[in-house]
Amino acid sequence: MNQPGQPMFHPPSNAPGAAPLPPQTLACPWCGCPAVPGPAVQACQGCRRRFTLSAGPALDGSVVPAPFHPAAMRIALRWSIVVTYRFATLEPPGIHSGTLDPVVGIAPVDQTSIAYGDVLSIAVWRKLAVVDCIIAALVPTPIALLTLYVAISVVAKSPGAGAVFAAIGLLMGLLAVWLFRRGIVIGRRQARIVGRWASTTVPFETSAAFHDELFRRCGIARPPIP
Ligand SMILES: [Zn+2]
Repeated sequence: MNQPGQPMFHPPSNAPGAAPLPPQTLACPWCGCPAVPGPAVQACQGCRRRFTLSAGPALDGSVVPAPFHPAAMRIALRWSIVVTYRFATLEPPGIHSGTLDPVVGIAPVDQTSIAYGDVLSIAVWRKLAVVDCIIAALVPTPIALLTLYVAISVVAKSPGAGAVFAAIGLLMGLLAVWLFRRGIVIGRRQARIVGRWASTTVPFETSAAFHDELFRRCGIARPPIP
């Protein structure tokens, strides 16, 4: 077991005939600069952006995946990319991910699978949810400011109308705060899972369980979400 504070990384024994590591295995998920796995959030040497990088069971001999459990919870995620949908599912033996057909968005048209024991590394980072921030800035924020301004200007003449405008303004202000929080604090959480034979990147902010279950099943001590 690793002691807290020690680097969680024991370089792999180079078994003869072992496949070379995919180049992104030990790299910053933002810019690709080399990075060393560790238990805490780190800042990239190159781009200074924050992420976690954890060595998986296929890279670090001290990481042992959780035993296979056929009834393990299935966690399914689906997200859109322009015209099609992509999906990622934590199944009992591993991670499936791929593209769904563009017509009904149910049948997979391509699929890759990574067994938990074949995971070389997992990187987790958080992108700004730009759309949420733009909507917050363009819609509820100006409405809130305008209605609060109207409320202040009319309250002396008509307290009732002032109260109505103030209530609308406060609601819009709350909506703006909620959208900014969703955009900046929660953001678009990304997990890049590099396996021996395949890799996938999953936006997982819609599932609270995905991060914890992914790390638990790979046998990796769960790092904080950056
Ligand atoms: Zn970087």
